[in-house]
Amino acid sequence: MDKDELLNAAQSGDFISGIYDYCDRWCEKCQFTKKCLNFHMVENKIKSKKSRRDKNEFFDNIEDSLKLALELIQDITKELNIKIDHSEDEEIEQELKRVNDKIKKNEIIQQCRAYSKAVSDFFDDISFYFGKLMGKEKLSEDESISKEKEAVEIIMWYNYLIEVKFARTLHCYLSEHDGDEDNLDYDDKVVSARIAIVAIDRSMASWYLIYDTYSTYEENAKKFLLMLHKIKEGIEMLIPEVVGYKRPYFD
Ligand code: SF4
Repeated sequence: MDKDELLNAAQSGDFISGIYDYCDRWCEKCQFTKKCLNFHMVENKIKSKKSRRDKNEFFDNIEDSLKLALELIQDITKELNIKIDHSEDEEIEQELKRVNDKIKKNEIIQQCRAYSKAVSDFFDDISFYFGKLMGKEKLSEDESISKEKEAVEIIMWYNYLIEVKFARTLHCYLSEHDGDEDNLDYDDKVVSARIAIVAIDRSMASWYLIYDTYSTYEENAKKFLLMLHKIKEGIEMLIPEVVGYKRPYFD
């Protein structure tokens, strides 16, 4: 897809503007694929490169999207006669570093990291995601096994997303509290926090299923449930607006 095709698609009226800002990026499970420009772009790329299934495909796609984005920026700046001022680049870079350092040290971020690592270690230890599910050598199509398989998929999908989304919230939160008007984005703060909470709630439901089904893993599931509960409490205390907030289209 080139720049003109992208602009035509964006102006076609076939897509809901910015819908991908509210989602958890799990396109396989999404009911809005036909209305999502982001999905359309990715699908288009896969179709045009359908024979290429090598390891570089993912990075090729990112590189192509970056080229498109840069071309678009060039066009927009030309059209609006905007001169990009680089004199403040160093200052911005330092500011970003300062905010990122704060984010890394944040207690809830560290709890998210501890959770993700513990979950990865757990799956590695019992190697139940790749080939085995909870000690069963062969997956059957029986309904309870499908539910457990789904629970594992949910936990794995959201394992790193919780930290990513909360870090974004924190970025907006710190800008707000530092009085950095240029980087303020109230919507992004609450939407990202909401996506983190959705990821936590779905992961908790999945851990409960594992707790309820496998006595061998009861203690592990309890530990993960407690970790997630603590992260959720922390997010809701820091961003009280997220309680009761509903995302457009998805909630
Ligand atoms: S809105 Fe749906 S299709 Fe689009 S990026 Fe998000 S999950 Fe994928």
